[in-house]
Amino acid sequence: MKVTIPHMGNVYIAAKALFEGLGVDYVIPPQNSKAALEIGSLHAPEEICLPFKIMVGNYIQAIEQGADTVIVTGSCGPCRFGEYCEMHMNLLKRLGYQVEFIVVDAPKAIGLKELMARISRLTESSPRSKGQKWRALAQAVRIMGLLDTIEAKAHEKAGYEKVRGSCKHLLRKCRQEVYRCKTPEKMLKCLHDYNKRMDEIPCDNSARPVRIAIIGEIYTVIEPFSNLYIEDKLMDYGISTKRLMTPSWWVGNTLMSPTRLNSLSIKKASRDYLPYNIGGHARECVGEAILSWKSGFDGAIQIFPMGCMPEIVSKAILPTIARDKDFPILSLVVDEMTGEAGYITRIEAFVDMLERRRSHAVSGY
Ligand code: SF4
Repeated sequence: MKVTIPHMGNVYIAAKALFEGLGVDYVIPPQNSKAALEIGSLHAPEEICLPFKIMVGNYIQAIEQGADTVIVTGSCGPCRFGEYCEMHMNLLKRLGYQVEFIVVDAPKAIGLKELMARISRLTESSPRSKGQKWRALAQAVRIMGLLDTIEAKAHEKAGYEKVRGSCKHLLRKCRQEVYRCKTPEKMLKCLHDYNKRMDEIPCDNSARPVRIAIIGEIYTVIEPFSNLYIEDKLMDYGISTKRLMTPSWWVGNTLMSPTRLNSLSIKKASRDYLPYNIGGHARECVGEAILSWKSGFDGAIQIFPMGCMPEIVSKAILPTIARDKDFPILSLVVDEMTGEAGYITRIEAFVDMLERRRSHAVSGY
């Protein structure tokens, strides 16, 4: 068995730690790029959302490097993601690829017994003892959490750093170095080290940077290739950003969902505008817009793929929130045809507007 995963932000680093810890053979697909998107766009249905196409590209690139088993999360929720796995399996089969799928779904949807059976399909090929397997899983989760913490610090501190670009530079080095580590133990040590170094980046605490919340569809918010590296661009402008959607948030939220105690603050915040779960993370998007307004952010940017059903609903609600709360929100739609120049112009115009609002608020005009 040679396993692979689709890309989504830093997940590949935690996945590498897990596979190394389990001692199973694996292929991490090449970083997302135009090549992966072109492969996916060639074979996927034209109207399907962008994450589906990029994932097809990831799978085919990994299969060509010897992968025979895909590990992916699933969802029985009311959007297309619930059909992704079946569609991916059929598509790859039609193209003549022999590949197994292990779909890790929420226990609420498939039952705990079925979930354990699926996980054991992966772990039974591991030569490690039971204790070592649990340890590998725990280490991968810690690695995922640390990466999210370091990334969040870098995005927030970018507005305060004394030397422009230092947070971005350190974050890039962190990702490269941790990926080169051979064992989960070394990866953890490396991440602790970078976490400390991120804390020590010299900052001007009297600075009052523009602060923007990044909200929207989970894949396009987390995966930088799909959002044309928006967080990197905002760091270059000296903007402080924050996003709730991270891989570790997703893990915690999924595990807690059977108790209905997950994301309580978001559910409460979204109540007046979208009190139902309509699939994807539309409710979270609406709730986050309210929470970021309450936390004093200057504005929010919503990102979602063309044709994303849940986010089209939240996009229709966000202008009401923007008007009610006097809170600017920009919606950006991405697909394989998105032109970078127009995309950047919209972001720059939004940032300019937030800066002008800020200076008018200070001067009283
Ligand atoms: S949330 Fe949107 S982009 Fe994601 S699978 Fe569902 S419809 Fe597609």
